[in-house]
Amino acid sequence: KTTLRLDKLLAHSGFGTRSIIKLLVKRGAVTVNGKKIKDSGMQVNAELDLIEVDGEAVRYREFMYLMLNKPQGVVSATEDRRDRTVLDLLDETYSHFELFPVGRLDKDTEGLLLLTNDGKLAHNLLSPRKHVPKTYFAEVEGMVGEDDMLSFRQGVTLDDGYETMPAELRILRSGDPLLGQVSEIQLTIMEGKFHQVKRMFQAVGKRVVFLKRISMGPLLLDAELSTGAYRELSEDEVGMLF
Ligand code: URA
Repeated sequence: KTTLRLDKLLAHSGFGTRSIIKLLVKRGAVTVNGKKIKDSGMQVNAELDLIEVDGEAVRYREFMYLMLNKPQGVVSATEDRRDRTVLDLLDETYSHFELFPVGRLDKDTEGLLLLTNDGKLAHNLLSPRKHVPKTYFAEVEGMVGEDDMLSFRQGVTLDDGYETMPAELRILRSGDPLLGQVSEIQLTIMEGKFHQVKRMFQAVGKRVVFLKRISMGPLLLDAELSTGAYRELSEDEVGMLF
């Protein structure tokens, strides 16, 4: 969309919330094609109109891409009647972008979640035909071993009869259940069925007690992001996703 409200365009360009933008406009800081503007709700054309704030041309960005390290306890939705959503974690600067999560993580799952308003990119990453690999770190009750690696490589049958595609299991630490230890593993899957990782372990008689996504396609969770923190993707990261 190239025609949109001036305040929306400015919000998308990082000038703050609508009320802050109203103040900017009120004090005469905003011009469109050289003329001072009074109405922050006027329609402008992002490609054809020259929009300036304090004499500086505004560079409009339609799309926004955020990487979030999702904490437990929030749901991957844009709205929820009971629970806090991942959108509630974001600064107000991002509220005008109409962001949505690309795919879902369970309420008790942590880790990499991409938020965007770019439907095309979301479709690219989620299309079942694309088989975008997703890697998870998990703590699992029970001793995870070679036999599970082989099972997952061949594919396991989930409780609804679905046969999983070959998945790569890496055992980081094989815990002894008799000592109350959990196993630590990394699992890469090529689909994104509902509760897939938990159900794959259920299929081999084990239980996931902690789950965190660490990559999605070429995108790696930034180790600098603590749980609940997020940042915009770099241009390189966005480029890799297309
Ligand atoms: N698999 C799961 O079981 N849960 C998630 O949140 C993601 C993958």
